Amino acid sequence: MKTAPSLPPSLWAAVTKPPMAFSPLVGARSVDVVIIGAGFTGLSAALHLRRAGVETMVIEAAEPGWGASGRNNGQVIPTLSRIDPDAILARHRVAGERFVGLIRDSAQHLFDLIGDERINAEAEQTGWVQPVHSPDRMKLAERRAAQWTKAGAKVALLSRDEMISKLGSAAHGTDAWHGGWWAPSGGHINPLALARGLARAVTERGGIIHTQSPVIAYGRGGARWVVTAPEGRVDARALIVATNATTSMFSERLAPAMAREMVTVTSWQMATQPIPESIRASLLPERNAVSDTRGELRFMRYDARHRLVTGGSVIGQQSAGSRLQALVGKRLAATFPQLSGLPGGVRFDYVWNGPIGMTRDGLPHIHMIGPDGYAWTGCNGRGVALALSIGREFARGVLGASRADLALPFTEIQPIRFYGIAQRLAPFALLAARRRDRRELA
Ligand SMILES: Cc1cc2nc3c(=O)[nH]c(=O)nc-3n(C[C@H](O)[C@H](O)[C@H](O)COP(=O)(O)OP(=O)(O)OC[C@H]3O[C@@H](n4cnc5c(N)ncnc54)[C@H](O)[C@@H]3O)c2cc1C
Repeated sequence: MKTAPSLPPSLWAAVTKPPMAFSPLVGARSVDVVIIGAGFTGLSAALHLRRAGVETMVIEAAEPGWGASGRNNGQVIPTLSRIDPDAILARHRVAGERFVGLIRDSAQHLFDLIGDERINAEAEQTGWVQPVHSPDRMKLAERRAAQWTKAGAKVALLSRDEMISKLGSAAHGTDAWHGGWWAPSGGHINPLALARGLARAVTERGGIIHTQSPVIAYGRGGARWVVTAPEGRVDARALIVATNATTSMFSERLAPAMAREMVTVTSWQMATQPIPESIRASLLPERNAVSDTRGELRFMRYDARHRLVTGGSVIGQQSAGSRLQALVGKRLAATFPQLSGLPGGVRFDYVWNGPIGMTRDGLPHIHMIGPDGYAWTGCNGRGVALALSIGREFARGVLGASRADLALPFTEIQPIRFYGIAQRLAPFALLAARRRDRRELA
């Protein structure tokens, strides 16, 4: 068992109101539902359970939002990253349609939840845009827009000219985009503010949250779930394991098979100095959230203080900071020549990172782990809106909705074979993606 660290520095940690005070779990307790992990999944499940009046306890190793939920780019995206509706339906014939509906509505669900709970998460529902960087990729945009339209989503294709005027003025001669598509229900948030706001909402509705309490293990004790932390123990009727990409970080005994269903990669995030209005007028003038289709993803959005929040990945996580800053700064300036107007050029005031769980098939893996027991892993980099909706569905399951009624395609836990090798090779997928992107532009 590892000790719980404090939240690392980041833009979100610097600008977000401090969290409420919580205490560790001490002694033996008995509750109806216990949830391990206070990210978007665990907190959404807890909130929906408290709305239904169910006794709920969340046990968190560090603090709410400590995992991916408090460190991400904050893009609210109603799609998966690589897998489109037809592939979901082909893989999951029974629950696939309901799951596609869950993803389609996930961004709206997030913004509605923020409104209903009056959470100040710096939310901007300005739409999520996926530009394409080569003419050939337009086929991908057309396929995605068509499949999501068929699934009932209000999305639209964007021509080259429409994309250029949406993201960066043609007057600046940018030829980075060849069109694409967009989902107006998307947008962006301050993710740490959302995690802390959800924790407050759970507490105000009578939910219990214990922090600094890394769970060592869980199991069945008679007809109940039993969850053990360093100084306490809880038994419960129902259990939700909401630890996602951090599943093995605090205890390798927690859920070892589930932890091996995904490899984890480090995603670096960085925020520029505030961009002046004179440049913003022609750089993401609609303040959309943007992530493209490259294998080596390019993504960006403004925060509430007009910083561009962007980032990337690099092989060799420890020394990534300065190397990656130079690369991302160069790419940003090439995409948006307007930025040459910044005195001293693009500067990154905040740089931080977080773990993303990648599954082999690109799908989230969602499990029933026993009677009234639920878990999932593998957001593949698209989990802000998704985690909240999956948390809501877990709550519905705990409240008695039948398996056939839930919008969740359950699978058996299937650890990746030769896991150690797969994890060691994971960062090198970036090299292949980089090569593929270059080939397409050649
Ligand atoms: C850098 C980065 C950028 C991203 N950008 C985006 C984006 O822009 N848009 C998007 O849609 N998705 C994005 N994602 C993905 C998204 O952030 C995640 O999918 C989502 O936050 C997952 O939420 P979660 O609650 O399931 O997991 P987490 O937020 O990781 O929460 C898991 C919690 O479990 C706790 N925990 C772990 N082990 C234990 C234990 N033994 N005992 C008790 N508690 C434990 C952890 O401390 C953590 O707080 C990004 C992810 C990263 C890392």
